[in-house]
Amino acid sequence: MKTIEYRHRYQHMYVAARYSGARHLISVAVIGLVVTGALLVYCVPLATTRDWLVVPTTLTLASFVEYWMHRGPMHHPTRGLRAVHERHGRRHHRYFAPDAMTFQNARDLHAVLFPPVLIIFFAAIATILGAVLALIWGAAAGGLFAATVIGYYLAYETLHLFYHLAERVPGRRWRWLAFLSRHHQLHHDPRDMLSCNFNLVFPIFDWLFGTLRTSAAMDPRTGERGRAGAIGQDSPDRVS
Ligand SMILES: [Zn+2]
Ligand SMILES: [Zn+2]
Repeated sequence: MKTIEYRHRYQHMYVAARYSGARHLISVAVIGLVVTGALLVYCVPLATTRDWLVVPTTLTLASFVEYWMHRGPMHHPTRGLRAVHERHGRRHHRYFAPDAMTFQNARDLHAVLFPPVLIIFFAAIATILGAVLALIWGAAAGGLFAATVIGYYLAYETLHLFYHLAERVPGRRWRWLAFLSRHHQLHHDPRDMLSCNFNLVFPIFDWLFGTLRTSAAMDPRTGERGRAGAIGQDSPDRVS
């Protein structure tokens, strides 16, 4: 099935007529920014140099969790997390093929962004863990931890959305963003999606675990490395 046909099928099967991409985007952004902003207003005036060490530590931890989730449950059926695999490995990867990475209208946001309820879930988990850290380390450290986790989630959603925007969008050609966009496009190659480029925000764990790829996979028909944009459409369902 071609990508365009799959998109029609997806919209028919999974997206309600009343769905609004703008409302989806705004609700994720508002929830994330309000919670992160409130935490920062509370903890920044209290934070000592020692408390700020929580930020790089949390960013590294969040990058590892992102890598682990993407390499594992998002691409392999896992007990208790099958919906995550269904939504990402089977649907998102079919909706956006390497030669059809960009979305065409606001309803396509349904296939890019996580459901709004997920940021509420993440904010609740981050706040609970932050409260535990506050008891051990101090209130400012706990607040900075929770704000960094939610900020990382927002960065993931923003960058992933950016990778699926049209090439002409301002910033797509900036060197680092162009690298990250290409990094994600290569991951969308059905031949490579189980083996490379699992980080979307900072590719540090792809680099550390040897799964960083910067050029397209070998074409089995020609024995040559092909363009990521010249690949078949149906593999995600077969591989998953
Ligand atoms: Zn993926
Ligand atoms: Zn994607």
